[in-house]
Amino acid sequence: MNAEQYIKTLCPFCDGSIEFPADALGQRADCPHCHKAIVLGSVEAPAQTEKALSTLNQPPSALNQMNVNQKILTGVALLGFFVTVCIAPWERITYSEDHKFLAKTTVYSPVWEQPSKQPDNPYIERYEYRLLWSPLLGTWIAIGVLFTGSFFLLKNTPSILEFLNKKR
Ligand SMILES: [Zn+2]
Repeated sequence: MNAEQYIKTLCPFCDGSIEFPADALGQRADCPHCHKAIVLGSVEAPAQTEKALSTLNQPPSALNQMNVNQKILTGVALLGFFVTVCIAPWERITYSEDHKFLAKTTVYSPVWEQPSKQPDNPYIERYEYRLLWSPLLGTWIAIGVLFTGSFFLLKNTPSILEFLNKKR
């Protein structure tokens, strides 16, 4: 008449699947895979599966969604941005000792030029520095456009690192 019912469960230690008769629920037994003592039915298989699935379905972070090539590209773009900040064009305006305007020169980052330094020439009173925004912004826009375009082109491309490894 009533066939014996079986329950499926997973071993909490080794995740091996175990099937046991329903009337043994809650009894102690040894796992057939790892031989550790377990309580039958203490971990329900469906619950375990659902938990595993929910971890799998978690949305990956933006960094995880990028492939290796896109990560390298992002690094190069950030480095390029940093370099443009370091060698940004500035306008150096020179004034004479009687406060008259003398000359305008373009210098690349007065950080390297030490703008606080007193001019060597006694005829020159001071230097003034002004950041040339337009070429700097133009460079940033160019980097941004190149970066965005390349980023989408690199989607689903084979990793450059693997390619280099195979070549060796
Ligand atoms: Zn086990």
